Amino acid sequence: MTDQDQLSPLEAVRARIAAAARAAGRDPAGVTLVAVSKQQPWDSIEPVLRAGQRTFGENRVQEAMERWTGRREGLTLHLIGPLQTNKAREAVGFFEVIESLDRPKLARVLAEEIQRAGRAPRLYVQVNTGEEPQKAGIAPGEADAFIAECRGAFGLSIEGLMCVPPQDEPPAMHFALLAKIARRNGLDRLSMGMSGDFETAIAFGATSVRVGSALFGVRAPAGRPA
Ligand SMILES: *Cc1c(COP(=O)(O)O)cnc(C)c1O
Repeated sequence: MTDQDQLSPLEAVRARIAAAARAAGRDPAGVTLVAVSKQQPWDSIEPVLRAGQRTFGENRVQEAMERWTGRREGLTLHLIGPLQTNKAREAVGFFEVIESLDRPKLARVLAEEIQRAGRAPRLYVQVNTGEEPQKAGIAPGEADAFIAECRGAFGLSIEGLMCVPPQDEPPAMHFALLAKIARRNGLDRLSMGMSGDFETAIAFGATSVRVGSALFGVRAPAGRPA
């Protein structure tokens, strides 16, 4: 094994993902790296793109469109931040994956926009595993009914579940809870794990990890253009 100090951040993160997958008895190819480019300057993103990374995550529709329009050929773009219904049309037209489906009104509008566009992003239901009032996501106790409603009432195909655990708690129980909710709803894709905890997430079954600062460095403060 090469000394990780000599690897680029992208190579180092990929190596850590592969090691965590193997340690869990899993195939490293079963874990997708979503490189979270939000609030990052292009100078930080460009080398990662050049090194072959093709899947990126963004948390704002407008910022993502500004950054990626015209340079998104061959890329898979994930929306990982909260989605307002008035941005649903743009999001459906722009992203390959929307990970923040978390309420019936959004499900209804997404279903309408998917119908209209004739293009369906892959959808993840976000679960607020820590039941934090300030955080997006459906409450764990409402997740089963919401997933059923998405599928039944709105005819949406759900690919998996996503969560962002509370910052001040060990993430493992949150990852375990997300995996449990997925299992009982017949879902096998889990978007969980960020720079600080992606190895733990992989141990609990993450099929995609959303990694920002470990790849690109510390972000510009939220709300300020990078
Ligand atoms: C910003 C963000 C990430 C990446 O966080 P890092 O700690 O920088 O890896 C992952 N997921 C979501 C939902 C985010 O908003």
